[in-house]
Amino acid sequence: MRAKVALVACGSYSAGEVQRQLGRALELLGGAGRFVKAGQRVLLKPNLCLPQAPERALTTHPEIIRQLAYWFGLTGARVVVGDNPVGDATQDRLDVIWNECGMQEALKDIPYTRSLLNKNMREFKIHIDGTSYSYFVSQEVLDCEAVVNVPKFKTHSLMTFTGAVKNLYGLLPANSKKTLHYQLPEHDKFAEMLVSIYSTVKPALHVMDAVVGIEGDGPGTKGEPRHIGLLMASTDGIALDAVATRIMGLGASRIPTSAAAVRLAAGEVDPENIEIVGDDLDVFIQTDYKIPETSVYHKDLTKKLFRLSKSFIRINQDKCHRCGLCAANCPTSVIDVKEGRYSIRLEVCIGCMTCHEICPAAAVETERPLIYQQLKDLKLRNLQKREMT
Ligand code: SF4
Ligand code: SF4
Repeated sequence: MRAKVALVACGSYSAGEVQRQLGRALELLGGAGRFVKAGQRVLLKPNLCLPQAPERALTTHPEIIRQLAYWFGLTGARVVVGDNPVGDATQDRLDVIWNECGMQEALKDIPYTRSLLNKNMREFKIHIDGTSYSYFVSQEVLDCEAVVNVPKFKTHSLMTFTGAVKNLYGLLPANSKKTLHYQLPEHDKFAEMLVSIYSTVKPALHVMDAVVGIEGDGPGTKGEPRHIGLLMASTDGIALDAVATRIMGLGASRIPTSAAAVRLAAGEVDPENIEIVGDDLDVFIQTDYKIPETSVYHKDLTKKLFRLSKSFIRINQDKCHRCGLCAANCPTSVIDVKEGRYSIRLEVCIGCMTCHEICPAAAVETERPLIYQQLKDLKLRNLQKREMT
């Protein structure tokens, strides 16, 4: 059977438009009642990676969560909204993120329960190339009758793209995230672990916020908002990601999570096997979407020069406001602080880009020689043209 991906135009985050268009997307997939019944629990899992205002477009817009809570509330289901944010997974940090991301205000008159998904953790194992790796997911997630994954449409400085599959990494506690980055620095193995989490959690539905996405050096504060005007939904998160990357002008075979999903037979990426319902895909295709300089997408376009990339991660001392988040979350503990200045020991950095993703001040910068950028841009545009014909 072909995977089905619903596309509905949504030009803004106004309450009326989001409610109407989300309702339409759900109807195209059989209606909210298909996923959860009265009295059951539905967990909405937004992307709440950083405490940033909704206008920055780095996190799932609160109006999307509010209207999903509305539609699932009509079924009589009990709505839970939860995440396990990057950094200290404490109630205080969740409070900060909840306020900054606009969730507190948006959900104030909606019946729901908020949850920090860091208790009663259950261990899962994945075997990659003969080695066993563990990750932990809260039993609360597994006990919900339906998980609805609500990612943001964003570029990613290492993995190129972050959508449905990558958003579920947010369910893991901070220490588990750090350990896995350290244990799996190779992007293809890391992607297999992400696909394993996806297969374990098995969300009933994925709804992607692509009204305003992120381009350039996402997924953190270095990324730039870009209006797409779209809501996407599917029961198949792999197919959803494949359509999303097509909208960015990228081929699924070059996206680590999509390639890993094919290797592990976890979902559908072939356009022939994906049915688009709702609005016309071609209207949303972007021909000049900016891809992160450091992403693995460029790796085999500019192999030799790519190896130099690590050398250009640095902390801009003028922008850094000394919060220490990068050092606290670096999986290899290679960010030092001396006399109030944070710096990276490049010779032992594994290039995981966690510091780049987590920095609230956009102070972790990546630079490349001009020749690299020119060669990469030329090859990337040619590739995007070929993949879109
Ligand atoms: S580089 Fe960013 S995350 Fe690190 S201490 Fe400075 S502001 Fe904080
Ligand atoms: S310095 Fe940054 S990129 Fe390097 S290992 Fe630490 S978090 Fe990852």
